[in-house]
Amino acid sequence: MIARVVEDLRRCGLLWKGDRVVYHRVQILDPAYVIYDRFRAANLPRILEALGARGIHSAGRFGAWEYNSMEGAMRAGLDLATRLAPSLAGALRPHRLSAGGGR
Ligand SMILES: Cc1cc2nc3c(=O)[nH]c(=O)nc-3n(C[C@H](O)[C@H](O)[C@H](O)COP(=O)(O)OP(=O)(O)OC[C@H]3O[C@@H](n4cnc5c(N)ncnc54)[C@H](O)[C@@H]3O)c2cc1C
Repeated sequence: MIARVVEDLRRCGLLWKGDRVVYHRVQILDPAYVIYDRFRAANLPRILEALGARGIHSAGRFGAWEYNSMEGAMRAGLDLATRLAPSLAGALRPHRLSAGGGR
């Protein structure tokens, strides 16, 4: 598979003659994409509600099982942090560095 990818990169001009591939790694992402199957619409709200009732706030591409980009995932994280911030106020204490400095 790697030889095929390198060959295709050369063919489409992303790798030039003389370019050398110094690192490669094949990783299988399973699942790589969120699939909207026929069970999603009915089950997703119930799952998120059950998790929420246990204090688990699931967000992001796989956390919310929604097909979004990196921007969407970051937006979801920011939105969640904004929603949770009031309930966390007071629970989080500022971290203090010791007088002698840390390592
Ligand atoms: C092949 C592919 C190509 C893509 N191309 C683009 C692109 O070109 N542009 C773009 O904007 N977006 C692209 N995306 C989408 C983008 O990668 C995602 O939208 C984004 O990474 C989702 O961020 P996330 O934090 O929700 O999930 P992730 O980035 O998947 O982060 C979830 C993290 O949680 C960790 N984790 C999972 N379970 C546990 C557990 N039980 N305990 C501890 N850690 C756990 C995982 O290891 C992972 O590090 C692509 C995605 C894929 C799969």
